[in-house]
Amino acid sequence: QIQRALRSLSIPLDRLHIMKGHMIRDMCKGLSRQTHAQAKVRMLPTYICSTPNGTEKGNFLVVELCQSQVRTLLVTLYGDGNMSPQMMYKIFDMPEGIRQGEGEALFDFIAQCVSQFLTETSSDTISSEERLPLGFVFPFTCQQMQLDKAELISWSKGFSCSGVVGNDVVQLLQSAIDKHHVGNTESSGGWLSSWRGWKSSSGQASRVQVVALMNDTVGTMMTCSTEGRPCEVAMVADKGSNCCFMAEAYLVETAEETSGRMCVNTEWGCFGDDGTLSDIITPYDECVDEESSNPGVKRFEKLVGSLYLGEIARHALIGLTSEKALFAETDIGVLKEKGVFTTQHVLDIINNEDGMTEVKRVLHSLGIQPSERDCGRVQQICRAVVGRAATLHATGLAAILSYMCQTREMEKLMVNVGVEGELYQGYARFEEILKSVARLLSPECMATFLPSKDGSGRGAAMVTAVALRMAAQRHEVDEVLAPLQLTHADLEQVQALMRQEMERGLGKNTHASASVRMLPTYVCHTPDGTEQGDFLALDLGGTNFRVLLVSVSEEGIRMASEIYVIPPTVMQGTGEELFDHIMDCIMDFQRKHNMMLQTLPLGFTFSFPCQQVGLDKALLLTWTKGFSASGCVGEDVVQLLRAAAERKQNSGLQVVALLNDTVGTMMACGYDDPKCEIGLIVGTGTNACYMEEMRNVGTVEGDEGRMCINMEWGAFGDNGCLDHIFTQFDKVVDESTINPGKQSRFEKLVSGMYLGEIVRQILMVMKERQLLFQGKSCTKLQTRNIFQTKFLSTIELSNGLALRQIRAILQELELDASFEDSVLMREVCQAVSLRAAQLCAAGLAAVVEKIRENRGAAKLSVTVGVDGTLYKLHPRFSKNLQKTLKELAPNCDVTFLLSEDGSGKGAALVAAVACRIANAMQ
Ligand code: ADP
Ligand code: MG
Repeated sequence: QIQRALRSLSIPLDRLHIMKGHMIRDMCKGLSRQTHAQAKVRMLPTYICSTPNGTEKGNFLVVELCQSQVRTLLVTLYGDGNMSPQMMYKIFDMPEGIRQGEGEALFDFIAQCVSQFLTETSSDTISSEERLPLGFVFPFTCQQMQLDKAELISWSKGFSCSGVVGNDVVQLLQSAIDKHHVGNTESSGGWLSSWRGWKSSSGQASRVQVVALMNDTVGTMMTCSTEGRPCEVAMVADKGSNCCFMAEAYLVETAEETSGRMCVNTEWGCFGDDGTLSDIITPYDECVDEESSNPGVKRFEKLVGSLYLGEIARHALIGLTSEKALFAETDIGVLKEKGVFTTQHVLDIINNEDGMTEVKRVLHSLGIQPSERDCGRVQQICRAVVGRAATLHATGLAAILSYMCQTREMEKLMVNVGVEGELYQGYARFEEILKSVARLLSPECMATFLPSKDGSGRGAAMVTAVALRMAAQRHEVDEVLAPLQLTHADLEQVQALMRQEMERGLGKNTHASASVRMLPTYVCHTPDGTEQGDFLALDLGGTNFRVLLVSVSEEGIRMASEIYVIPPTVMQGTGEELFDHIMDCIMDFQRKHNMMLQTLPLGFTFSFPCQQVGLDKALLLTWTKGFSASGCVGEDVVQLLRAAAERKQNSGLQVVALLNDTVGTMMACGYDDPKCEIGLIVGTGTNACYMEEMRNVGTVEGDEGRMCINMEWGAFGDNGCLDHIFTQFDKVVDESTINPGKQSRFEKLVSGMYLGEIVRQILMVMKERQLLFQGKSCTKLQTRNIFQTKFLSTIELSNGLALRQIRAILQELELDASFEDSVLMREVCQAVSLRAAQLCAAGLAAVVEKIRENRGAAKLSVTVGVDGTLYKLHPRFSKNLQKTLKELAPNCDVTFLLSEDGSGKGAALVAAVACRIANAMQ
């Protein structure tokens, strides 16, 4: 019988695995908005979104409402990694009847305790002027809405004060404190209004402010965190049992917060209330449950809480005695009474590894006369009961660890677990079991257990301190990022300015001084889908030089291309050398593709600023992107190419058109969608083109039809019209470019070449202000261009912030970033990329509105062909752009079409359209 009893108390490993799975499932239920209400594991959000980092400093008040006492504490933190906080306590006994009286009386009493405690302690520790943040430990089930806002759901533990359920208990305590002028002196006043982040519930601010409300488990987690060693899980193995951990905030659907992490109070004591645990529950557990004050609920807690372990053992002893397996020669009538065999008895019995004297002593003290064999068996039973409690704690913990590991998308999780409570402290093997079972059940997680002392007191002070640190930090972060935030009105103004510059660029007399140059392209038609034939295309000025053969037919477009390298010596040599090299590449292509004898129309995508004077006549204004071949600026690029063809005696080229990549993009998309009349590029640089009415183009003769205008909008603002939106970060970035103060002012706010740099400048300022990396130096961050724009994509992509992806970036930058650092970095990236998308939208809004007005239409439906890696790969850029455009140009219905190889396909299509029109004219 003994063996059977012991077996029923020991749970096999496969069963534990299943239980762990159930726990995870129930945790997910508790977190989900839909299933939260029915969930047994409640997973209550605590609104604690950070753990201490050791810089916390100052005096903090804590008031803890206990069973029959109110405990007040003053904790002084020194910013020394929380190694040696100073603490002062005072405990007040609660008067009879207050627990069942009026709520107001309870909170008045608490306020008076705080008041009295302050009068007695403050004089030598804190100045009478000092503000005092207060943390409130309130161990009842609350619906928390903020760190300092929590409605009581229901009283328990013998409390039933009226007028409290459904109300915000922080508010109730604060009102009582205000009413009693707790800690206020005559001279108080001025400092409060100057303290940021300080809220006042009533008109007159009190010196003592309730900043945070929390449950005791959370405190345990907070006390175990020290500098460089965050503790992200806490377990209390005491009378009851509970666990909390830092969950990814976006998974906590019951709270609004979505970025970073939030501590979740699992309230796992009710695990199993839906019957999940029925196959491990023994008859002894059933007896304990039936005799408890709340039968049928808190089933998990009743298997593991120290309030119940003595009782479980007692029922096991009674059962075995009646089966005649124990105490054959002694009367155990005394064991019939509930509560006589305590958990302390159990612990005394099992902690005595050698000899039976202690077991005998304990049983004697209860009036039982055991035999030697009885002693051994009693000890075995007690060990089994406590061992099972430890094993079940480990199973719950393993569920949490695995869940954390999964949701953080990590292969391995290293985590610190704060532990507190009678069982953990009272039984040496508890930690051993905890460790080994958790390891077996979640081998991917490495937990380090840290004993906590006085979690509820010291921890509450920590929570309060962290809350204040976060509020102050939040304020400063907002201050740093504020200049990047553009209102709807700001964007409307940018749109109006763009429109104004467009008009100036188009005007015959204003053209020369306009920052948006509005260059005519001599492309007068977009494809209509009837284009046919084979074309050659060249693409110079992107990442590579390419030659392409493009076949346009009814079946669509087929392309063959070769990539050629242009050596730096050629880029920087003479113009003749450069164009000879280009010809060599073309002839190599012609040979490879067996087309030496063919003469095909050629389109040339030439992505450098040009003054176009005809479709096949364009004067190079200036080289960019590392090119500096001599004798080209001011020359007709098409002519330079033709001259090279002549030198090579190649008569197979018929250059029909030279175009810019923006135009290529519009044309490529225009082939698939006839409504595509706008081209947009957001890559290394940014630019746009669109179909303008000839009558509006003052720089080209003729009023009939349309012409594509290459806006060169990157230079928007070069005349200073955008100076008001430039931030100090933009100015520093601008100053470090090769063309400070001029050219590409707009581009420097929007395009891929600069966004990483802007982010880097902000990060450096934040580091200086101690908002990041705890102010630690990071030399690498001072290197120009070290923070690439593609990092923005990676960082912003991480939903709920999967550290794994970000860590690689941070390692590259040699940054020692905490989790919160990376959350903040993401916020910075978001601010910068959002602004870029919004500005781009403002520019585009000016374009679509102009087209709409040109046509005198109330509504316009138009398509934008887009190219550029920033637009294509950034996870939010396109969405933000489209959303803002809708807001700024509500009468335009704009579709975005991604361009596939606009420079190749587009060049061929410009040539194709030109041929189609020429044929039609003949
Ligand atoms: P280009 O504009 O030179 O023709 P792209 O359109 O490919 O070339 O743009 C390249 C630029 O895109 C890079 O300079 C970089 O700033 C940016 N970029 C590259 N990868 C990413 C990414 N994953 N997310 C956002 N931007 C990127
Ligand atoms: Mg490009």
